[in-house]
Amino acid sequence: MYDVVDAKRSVRPKFQLVDIRSNPAKFVSLDGLREEPGSTKLAKLRYPTPPSRTISNAKPPIMLHTVVARAAFVASFCVLAPIANTCHAAIVTILPIQVGNGSGDFGNPGQELFLQATNKIWSQAGITFNYLPFTSIISADYYDLDDQNEVDSLFANAPGASLDAKTISMWFVNDHYDAYGEVNEVGGLNANKIVISNFVFDETRLDTIAHEVGHLLGLNHDDPGVETNFLMRSGDDRIAPTVIGNIFPDGTGLDRMTAGQVAIALADAKVSAVPEPSSVILVAGCVGFAFLRRRQMQTSCRG
Ligand SMILES: [Zn+2]
Repeated sequence: MYDVVDAKRSVRPKFQLVDIRSNPAKFVSLDGLREEPGSTKLAKLRYPTPPSRTISNAKPPIMLHTVVARAAFVASFCVLAPIANTCHAAIVTILPIQVGNGSGDFGNPGQELFLQATNKIWSQAGITFNYLPFTSIISADYYDLDDQNEVDSLFANAPGASLDAKTISMWFVNDHYDAYGEVNEVGGLNANKIVISNFVFDETRLDTIAHEVGHLLGLNHDDPGVETNFLMRSGDDRIAPTVIGNIFPDGTGLDRMTAGQVAIALADAKVSAVPEPSSVILVAGCVGFAFLRRRQMQTSCRG
């Protein structure tokens, strides 16, 4: 007749088969009375003496269902965490406006938004862009911005601009006399206007739109930590990507943002928060973890 008992478990529980008839003195019943060999009670589980010390000092055996539950818990985070990180927590809405010269020519004739590149850059801040359908205006003066007066005039008159101050109005012109793009202000609720030159698309500067949006969200060229491979470096010496594979975190890792810039941008009023799946997952994870801890404690108590 064999029974299963706990051996000494100073580190991990081990089991051994013991012929309880060969040494009945090792086994006592739970009420402390020694069992007689051959008793029918010997077929039941016995604890080595003294049972209280052995059980209290031993780690409980790790039950199979606990191992499976822990593995499932860890695996769920490994799978869900990367998904949550790629989910965007905030959006910025942009109204694209093509400027025509009245002769059938328009800035940005291909209606490019470099949307994939722009969203990849701003995913560092958890921001994605919601573009409204293209609109257009006709103005020979604004089609080619020959000097700063015309740029200022465009921002002041804002033909075709959105009536929602939190929506960015983005005019696509044929030429800007001095820049790939320009904004009306840096940060704040009045900073909601951008002009983009067609040179951006001629030269495939994938980050100009993202850079100008950065200004509207409060970022500057001289923010601490901004180097030539950072989004907000001036266009004069910023290394601009021409392929999406070189945008951070891939390839040559261009268009980075500092943690401080991310915080500034997210605090701007034009950034609208949306429900964040990662927070839901986090709450579910905490509930699951608490449940497992409870199960584990119950297992220990059963000792
Ligand atoms: Zn700039």
